[in-house]
Amino acid sequence: MKTALVTGAARGIGLATTKEFLSKGWHVVMVDRDEEALTSEASQLQDVTEILCDVSVPGQVADIAKKFDHLNALVNNAGVADFGPIEETDLSRWRTVMETNLDGVFMMTQALTPALAAAKGAIVNIASISGLRASTLRVAYGTSKAGVMALTQQQAVELGEKGIRANCVCPGPVRTKLAMAVHTQDIIDAYHDAIPLNRYGSEDEIANVITFLCSEEASFVTGQIISVDGGFEATGIGLP
Ligand code: NAD
Repeated sequence: MKTALVTGAARGIGLATTKEFLSKGWHVVMVDRDEEALTSEASQLQDVTEILCDVSVPGQVADIAKKFDHLNALVNNAGVADFGPIEETDLSRWRTVMETNLDGVFMMTQALTPALAAAKGAIVNIASISGLRASTLRVAYGTSKAGVMALTQQQAVELGEKGIRANCVCPGPVRTKLAMAVHTQDIIDAYHDAIPLNRYGSEDEIANVITFLCSEEASFVTGQIISVDGGFEATGIGLP
């Protein structure tokens, strides 16, 4: 049985990805820092292992690495959002976003590279369309996600010789807790108008692409940044 480790697995896109892997017969290691949500969701699923871990804390990430010598897929999905203009984004807000969204992806990948190499596994990092376009509200979030894209390409180039593939998924808007905390009604309306499919995506629509990229069907796909956004990126319109 193949094993995938999904960070931020207790809700939203990470939980949908967990369920999609399970439907394909994988074992899933669910990693999250929200103990209540993690325990509650994991208890309703079979073939999962839950690990309480904050991916922004080096010691906790190092402890995870000790548990695995063989891993078929790593989905670096855990993320936080904080929207605000440059002058209102103080250093602590900036660092909070970077520590989870960028440091977490770096540390998890570094810690699990031996296990991924042993299985010739795949990495999928979750960035965002907010990393592809600048906007007036996303100095920290957008910059962190642009970093995730660059990090993905570094991973693909450097780890390819170990047989590890690395790709990046950039979701458009999905109605998760993270998005609904920062999307005002104006942003929601503007996205509906701007997205060619005129709607938000679902968690499952993102999960389908993530699991495809981890599968054998994608065995020659690496170093790619793939938008799953209802066509938003193709419009050239700025972020609302
Ligand atoms: P969500 O808030 O529903 O779920 C995020 C999960 O990550 C939560 O369970 C949370 O506890 C966990 N988490 C956060 N920080 C963590 C940390 N440091 N360590 C461990 N777990 C942590 O959010 P979501 O919308 O499902 O987001 C998943 C990913 O998708 C994020 O990287 C986000 O930036 C990205 N994304 C989301 C959208 C969207 O519209 N929802 C759009 C583009 C990109």
